[in-house]
Amino acid sequence: MMTRDRIPLAGVIGSPVAHSKSPRIFRHWLNRFDVRGHYIPMDVAETDLEAAIRVLPRLGFVGVNVTIPHKEHVLEIADLVSEQAAVTGSANTLVFRDDGTIHADSTDGHGFLANLCSNVPDWEPGQGPAAVLGAGGAARAVVASLLKAGAGEVRLSNRTRARSEALRREFGARIRVYDWNEAGAMLKGARTVVNATSLGMAGHDALQVPLDGLSRDAVVSDLVYVPLETELLAQARRIGCQTVDGLGMLLFQAAPGFERWFGIAPHVDDQLRQAVLS
Ligand code: NAP
Repeated sequence: MMTRDRIPLAGVIGSPVAHSKSPRIFRHWLNRFDVRGHYIPMDVAETDLEAAIRVLPRLGFVGVNVTIPHKEHVLEIADLVSEQAAVTGSANTLVFRDDGTIHADSTDGHGFLANLCSNVPDWEPGQGPAAVLGAGGAARAVVASLLKAGAGEVRLSNRTRARSEALRREFGARIRVYDWNEAGAMLKGARTVVNATSLGMAGHDALQVPLDGLSRDAVVSDLVYVPLETELLAQARRIGCQTVDGLGMLLFQAAPGFERWFGIAPHVDDQLRQAVLS
């Protein structure tokens, strides 16, 4: 929050960071709400991370977003870790508080759910099993948010089975683990399907999971947003499923940071999408 007579600064720390869409999101909101403030991408090496974070508040920063590869490491630097960040095992939003402490939060789960609910208003987590592909950092946030929202069963399939088993041990009996070669079978009867792997992203391998078992009642969501319509979403749309792309999650996960740093709850709308895509 702005409490000092300074132009508040925020930004995103990662390495590399040039590809980040966060500056477009935040600059759109700063202009839209006529906020005196700036949002800056900062490429910070792992070895400089702590020193950079400690100095930023003294330079007028009210907080930062954190992206790959620093999302886990910042938990060790923060003084306070939100429940969401602790469950997710990583943070993407730091708030530099007036008392000098650093608060770490994870808003990926919020972004995922807010995007789903905004695109499919009658979606309910209790409608039927959810099937999540992947067990990395993003999958962990998705699983935690689905369980917290009340999902009765979350099925998980990941190339490295041990990572899904670790999530089952952590999150408990509502998780059912499938082998990666059973991922197609896992989709049978699922009402929510989420690709939380990096497969299907431009420059990566395609996601090759058979969709024969996918019901047209399922809502299919992809965390990948380049391309906007992944092959998974295109195929699911042809089957008749409602589909939700990953760009919305990126936009929704940014909103809590903007509100905390600049004091205004921003809108996620088509104007913002166009600004980020242009
Ligand atoms: P991560 O921790 O590195 O996890 C990557 C996941 O993809 C793991 O489950 C990994 O399986 C799987 N994977 C990678 N290559 C694979 C392959 N060749 N075959 C099968 N599985 C493969 O990354 P993350 O942070 O979770 O991100 C995952 C995706 O979500 C990325 O595309 C990222 O851009 C996207 N994302 C989007 C948003 C958003 O706001 N829309 C937010 C966060 C992340 P293994 O465990 O076997 O390696």
